[in-house]
Amino acid sequence: MKFGTKAIHAGITPDPTTGAIMTPIYQTSTYVQVSPGDHKGYEYSRTHNPTRTALQNNLAALENGLYGLCFASGMGATDTLLKLLKPGDEVISTNDLYGGTYRIFTKVYEGFGIKFHFVAMDEVKNLESVISDKTKMIWIETPTNPLLNIIDIKAICKLAKSKNILTVVDNTFATPYIQTPLDLGADIVAHSVTKYLSGHSDVVMGAIIVNDKKLHDQLAFLQNACGNVPGPQDCFLVLRGIKTLHLRMKAHIENAARVAEYLLTHPKIDKVYYPGIPTHKNHAIAKEQMKGFGGMVSFTMKGDDLKDSIRVLEKFKLFSLAESLGGVESLCGHPASMTHASIPKAEREKAGLKDSLVRLSVGVEDIEDIIADLEQALEN
Ligand SMILES: *Cc1c(COP(=O)(O)O)cnc(C)c1O
Repeated sequence: MKFGTKAIHAGITPDPTTGAIMTPIYQTSTYVQVSPGDHKGYEYSRTHNPTRTALQNNLAALENGLYGLCFASGMGATDTLLKLLKPGDEVISTNDLYGGTYRIFTKVYEGFGIKFHFVAMDEVKNLESVISDKTKMIWIETPTNPLLNIIDIKAICKLAKSKNILTVVDNTFATPYIQTPLDLGADIVAHSVTKYLSGHSDVVMGAIIVNDKKLHDQLAFLQNACGNVPGPQDCFLVLRGIKTLHLRMKAHIENAARVAEYLLTHPKIDKVYYPGIPTHKNHAIAKEQMKGFGGMVSFTMKGDDLKDSIRVLEKFKLFSLAESLGGVESLCGHPASMTHASIPKAEREKAGLKDSLVRLSVGVEDIEDIIADLEQALEN
């Protein structure tokens, strides 16, 4: 099956009792047993729920994986993955990553004796000096947030495999429409389903997809034992959103390319961060591992004056100033004070994240209206 067909059909069968074409919202906590232990595969909804099962199977198919697991949020998925580790273990992560991921690493799991190294992973050689026998996990986010650097998934997974280190790819920004990390050698794909997968800014959810049965069983144990699960109503909404994932991504990709093109020639713009630009440092890898360059574009303004950027953010009419990304509507954000405020300023600057950087999640509105909004916001 091709991607669009999978988005609509994979893991989903009409309801066996009524023929309902849409997966019902099984709003139930428990399931009746005929005799102790004699049941239809469902005992309690923390462990299994049919609406969640359909979504988990659909996500697994989209990522070309065998097993999917859903969680109450993207951070819930991250938390579950970190529980695979033990005190003394070390993790190598990219230095330009989602602020909440940085926060759970440094403010929660460091306290449990796990050590995190942050390196610029767009140069594979940067990992070599920090890898040791203690390294148990490599955490990749690509494109990175908010600087949209591209990391060579295949090269890093190859290095990790040779040393028996688990690789996780946070595929939130790209989505499986653009790249499928399991095909590039990753062990685990993680998602904030909240963003493009759900796509309509109405759900908070996370997911993990793997191919290895033992790893799945360990993660499913943690999902049930720690109870970090989404409810059936949210699973239904995401199943509904995913049916148009391929259509939405195509439109996001086209619109973001036009926005990047417009910003590149604008006299007030200093730097445009977008992997589709031929001069982008890792454009060649982006072209190789991605089917499109995504819907996110970041920029800084000439003079690098924070006040200029704030004025632009305030003047946007179509772009709403809000956290999050990946919904059908265009959003703008200020990473230094919003999504990445939990990363200390010195760390942010070391990673190249300027305080004046503006991040755009380009929606699927008509491109003429999107460009017109940029034009009026950038006008003095
Ligand atoms: C939003 C986000 C997360 C966290 O997901 P939540 O659903 O908000 O908990 C993790 N990684 C990336 C790249 C994100 O954008």
